[in-house]
Amino acid sequence: MVERTDIKEIKGIGEKTAQLFAKVGVNTVGDLIRYYPKGYDVYEEAVPVSEVEEGKVQTVSGAISGRIQVSGSSRMQITTLQVRDLTGSLKVVWYRMPFLRNTLGKGGTVTLRGRIARKRNGLVMEHPEIFYPADKYEEKLDTLQPVYGLTSGLTNGTVVKAVRQALEHLDLTHETLPDVLRLKYHLAEYNFAIRGIHFPQDKENFYHARERLVFEEFLTFILALRRMRDQNERTANEYVIPSDLRIGTFIEKLPYRLTHAQMKVWKEIEGDMASATVMSRLVQGDVGSGKTVVAVLALLSVALNGMQGALMAPTEVLARQHYASISRMLEEQEIPVKVELLTGSMTAKEKRRAYDRIECGYAKIIIGTHALIQDRVNYDNLALVVTDEQHRFGVKQRETFAQKGGVPHVLVMSATPIPRTLAIILYGDLDISVIDELPANRLPIKNCVVDTGYRNTAYQFMRKQIIEGRQCYIICPMVEESETLEAENVLDYSKNLQEELGKNIVVECLHGRMKQTQKDDIMDRFARNEIQILVSTTVIEVGIDVPNATVMMVENAERFGLAQLHQLRGRVGRGKYQSYCIFMTASKAQETKERLDILNHTNDGFKIASEDLRLRGPGDLFGIRQSGLMNFRLGDIYQDAKILQKANEAADYLIKEENEWLKKIPEYEGTASVII
Ligand code: ADP
Ligand code: MG
Repeated sequence: MVERTDIKEIKGIGEKTAQLFAKVGVNTVGDLIRYYPKGYDVYEEAVPVSEVEEGKVQTVSGAISGRIQVSGSSRMQITTLQVRDLTGSLKVVWYRMPFLRNTLGKGGTVTLRGRIARKRNGLVMEHPEIFYPADKYEEKLDTLQPVYGLTSGLTNGTVVKAVRQALEHLDLTHETLPDVLRLKYHLAEYNFAIRGIHFPQDKENFYHARERLVFEEFLTFILALRRMRDQNERTANEYVIPSDLRIGTFIEKLPYRLTHAQMKVWKEIEGDMASATVMSRLVQGDVGSGKTVVAVLALLSVALNGMQGALMAPTEVLARQHYASISRMLEEQEIPVKVELLTGSMTAKEKRRAYDRIECGYAKIIIGTHALIQDRVNYDNLALVVTDEQHRFGVKQRETFAQKGGVPHVLVMSATPIPRTLAIILYGDLDISVIDELPANRLPIKNCVVDTGYRNTAYQFMRKQIIEGRQCYIICPMVEESETLEAENVLDYSKNLQEELGKNIVVECLHGRMKQTQKDDIMDRFARNEIQILVSTTVIEVGIDVPNATVMMVENAERFGLAQLHQLRGRVGRGKYQSYCIFMTASKAQETKERLDILNHTNDGFKIASEDLRLRGPGDLFGIRQSGLMNFRLGDIYQDAKILQKANEAADYLIKEENEWLKKIPEYEGTASVII
């Protein structure tokens, strides 16, 4: 077995399972061992029965007291017992496992690990894992069990088994990093790291494994970045765009006045495009700061000069939204510039027509998704490429885009707050503009952090908003019910909510697994207020602009990173109406509340991200709560800032030495952002 081997070679993986793996991007054995767990289950010490907490997964250990009962219908048999320790007793239930009466019937001590729920008569442990007799738990105590990203039909157990087999049959004794670096930075061996990330023996072991893999991820990323920068350094400007009076008129006729920050950034862009060298500029601005209109000014001045500009969005929904709003802006001012849409879900005929209009130069502003960089697209004279929310794009895509035609100006729009020291590493010598001011007409969003007991009140509140003509978002962490995680899911939630609210309010759901046409249809209907409540996963996070939406409610808010919640919050408060953000949490833990409370006190995206990290502390690496910025597979630019610095130093060293390893280190394959 080698890394290129098809996963079907693994015992127990047939055609059907292979298809499920393909859905999560795993086709070869190599893909499988790089399919890192997204979190770990830690088997912690048992807690006293009297101290269990609602909503948590906990372990208790004690004597089986009284008789085991089986009740309920034949379809849904419920097994109940009481477990007692020195501090009290706790009710425990299992569903559809009547045979437990025989196994546990002998009495004695037992250790149970499961989620604590509140029922009518108090706290109950539901469907726990059983260790019988009680001391069997000791084997598991303090171990970390991997939890993988799954898809419907693919269980955690299947992934665990497959990874175990792959690790058993693969030879991982080769190295992918030079010894000098491994020794200098105390990095684990490749073999140790791959095994340790999947099945760490303890926290220490996990920590070393992860550090090595994060280092490698950052290093390959930085090397890819350097390679590209060398190719692009100070390219002469083939597309000189002189400043144009018509842009000034366009700005005056906008329905709002540009903020000072927007004007300042636009002047910087205008200067770049008229200069002797090609523009490479990043525009950072918090959600809602009005980055789109700045991009439009750049696209429009290119178009008015007879050249083409392209705007690439990370999702189809967003591309279509940009297309609609930019077309509208130009129409309102009767500007005869042809705007073209090009996305993957268009029919072959529609695409062909778009290609023609792009190739002959009739289309001047082209808006789309990845479809914009496919081989089939030939531009007439592409002078500017704008990418929106750059952190969703990969290195390769960017390279291709630069290769279409001449060397276009590049403008990257990002809402990701990155401190200066990191920006210099991650963006190299890219020029950075910051829109550090929000439009003046905004009312600050009102926030609250509440527990699930507040849900009905929240629904009543939304109902009132809807009667006033407004709309709402509800975010759930998952698409459908899951075996391993207890959290709200979009499918069940939207169904139940529709029943609860009656037919006068239209509830729809949106998630990443839907067909593109379906997603577009739902977003269009939401934009036209034919849907009042949109229940969605975080696909909604990136850039959606529906100013009429005033309520953002996030279920299981404890499961999201604060930076992500901040992005979600940015979906409301985009118009003239007072907006509200409700963070719902099932967890009573004080720490969770404290974390979420940060969002109450500041609207500054960067402050939020760094506070989050400070509160969690660098030791807390076990949750799924990464900042999620920049799309690294394992690395987190805040949490692992130190490793990032080291990887940068290592890249300097290798390049200076013209080290032979430069050719041997694997190419960067992830999807984190890189600037061309
Ligand atoms: P983001 O920076 O998050 O991409 P958008 O460009 O989508 O933000 O802008 C958010 C909303 O603010 C849009 O509805 C846009 O029309 C509006 N907007 C942009 N600039 C201004 C301004 N100067 N004054 C008032 N509203 C503005
Ligand atoms: Mg935007």
